[in-house]
Amino acid sequence: MILLKNGTIIDGTGGPARGGDVWLDGDRIAAPAPDARPERTIDCTGLTITPGFIDIHSHSDVMVLENDRAKADQGVTSEVVGNCGFSPYPAGPMENAVSEYGRGILYGPPKWGWPNAAEYLDEVRRNARLASIWSLVGHGSLRTAHAGPKQGPLETKQVDAMAADLDDALTAGACGFSTGFMYAPGSSAPREEIIRLLHVVARHKKIYATHMRSYSFQLLESIDEQLDLARETGVKLQLSHLQAVGRANWDKQRYALDKIAEARQTGVDVEFDIYPYQAGSTVLTQLLPQWALNGGVETMLRRLKEDRPRIARETVESMAQRWEDVYVASVGSQAGQHWVGKNFAQIAEARKLEPVECVFQILEEENGEVNMLSFNQSEDNLRQLIQHPLCTVISDGFYVKGRPHPRLYGTFPHLLGEMVREKKWMPLEEAVYRITGKPAARFRMEGRGSLSPGSYADVTVFDAAHIRAKATYEDPRQQPEGIRFVFRNGQQTL
Ligand SMILES: [Zn+2]
Repeated sequence: MILLKNGTIIDGTGGPARGGDVWLDGDRIAAPAPDARPERTIDCTGLTITPGFIDIHSHSDVMVLENDRAKADQGVTSEVVGNCGFSPYPAGPMENAVSEYGRGILYGPPKWGWPNAAEYLDEVRRNARLASIWSLVGHGSLRTAHAGPKQGPLETKQVDAMAADLDDALTAGACGFSTGFMYAPGSSAPREEIIRLLHVVARHKKIYATHMRSYSFQLLESIDEQLDLARETGVKLQLSHLQAVGRANWDKQRYALDKIAEARQTGVDVEFDIYPYQAGSTVLTQLLPQWALNGGVETMLRRLKEDRPRIARETVESMAQRWEDVYVASVGSQAGQHWVGKNFAQIAEARKLEPVECVFQILEEENGEVNMLSFNQSEDNLRQLIQHPLCTVISDGFYVKGRPHPRLYGTFPHLLGEMVREKKWMPLEEAVYRITGKPAARFRMEGRGSLSPGSYADVTVFDAAHIRAKATYEDPRQQPEGIRFVFRNGQQTL
């Protein structure tokens, strides 16, 4: 047995901190007999002991198999992958189409893809040592596996096959289903297709997480769309990385929260999550109109030649951010690396061209492989979301070739250091609850997010007075400070 002695215990329920000891026996938290003797004692004087942190929105589907330390170093012991419509299965005969669809989000060694949930989950169980993994079935991957990159309505038998595949995946242990309505081809799915699939999820009593159609000008309509889907199918709904993107839309956030509160009053089980940063990060093609992305990268590049003025006009019209708020985060080629860290106002200046033309040129030069970082949100809105009782805090971290968003390396220490200790946005107990007990309950992770005897020995020990993220937008790959020990299933990972 391992004894974590004389710490400040925050148990993940939101209840007050207290002094005491925590015992680990094998892979479980123990309540030992009074005369028990530990094999190892760790002095936790001055340190805080909590359940291991749970990241319910991660894109590390493939990277968890590399046992990269980005999350473990933050105190994370459990991750939910398969978000925003992207899972690395089902692949099968459409393997190439699925991996092209996932490119930019599901970073990892060049060859990945599993035929089904069972094989993927089996591999992570065997080889992911730093975190326990829960996986959502991504709608975009599921659709691409059955119909390739085709957009619009599918044949009935294709939708039947998707529903059967989803049913199998949920039976095999996938924890729910995700959609990505801002990513083609999932964005083009008719409502009936989604309803059909959500009925399957509801029957399994599992969760549905969604990257909505819009977080900017159409934020409120997008929330209505998702609430209607949940109302009609009875599915448990998680609105992923909720925010109001762009100055012009910041005041929409309170109406968004009102809609969510009203829906709950009428019986819809809806909650949301956020990453604790004002900037967002995704693929650069997200700035383009959806129709321009129909059919994959090559078709998109061809359309950029044929229909450039129209795509330019629609891109500019739908921009919620200013050009100086949108940065190149990564590019595929060596030759383009000098653009990384520059915003499109600067690039336009350097190239003596309109910013939107620079977006197109860089997409062309990089064969579509560009990620961006975009400053979207106000601090007031971020605080309002993070303090909301329905909010869970997530990383939404994903790996890129260039400069990743600092949330990949810093989310949890950033929350506990900057937002809790420095800005005093909430008590430490409440912040810990939002990254342990709350997400465990939401995703029905039995025996996780808790320090009660019999729970899994997932434990994070940190120095609450000094914990902080060192990852910045300029230099994100930095290990945080103040995380002292991490155990997952009783095995020490830090
Ligand atoms: Zn997303």
